[in-house]
Amino acid sequence: MSSDADYIRRMSDALRSGAKMLSEVCPVCNSPLFEVKGELRCIRCDKPVVKVREESEILSASTPLVLTQLENAISAKIDVLTHLLHQTADPEEIRQISDTISSLVKLFHESRRLSELLRKT
Ligand SMILES: [Zn+2]
Repeated sequence: MSSDADYIRRMSDALRSGAKMLSEVCPVCNSPLFEVKGELRCIRCDKPVVKVREESEILSASTPLVLTQLENAISAKIDVLTHLLHQTADPEEIRQISDTISSLVKLFHESRRLSELLRKT
């Protein structure tokens, strides 16, 4: 296979035309990435590489999913607690369960508000 020779040729072509070799590697093939005219490229894959640069971008990209999972978990817990509330006659237990449900409902609303806020931005 001539792919390695081809890769080396493309790499030296890129370097000759002013590309910069970076310390980061391609997530697909682990080859060093190059900055070509302001664009991040993997010379081996011969493709531009889209990178999430900031950790905050990763966070905001994954937040709605995290919130959805949180909301699902909260709903499931409220369901279980409501069931327990039905079954108990112990005042102390009733108080504990209601307190827990109340804070879960609050958490659920906060999560909703946060995801709406994120959707708008
Ligand atoms: Zn690659």
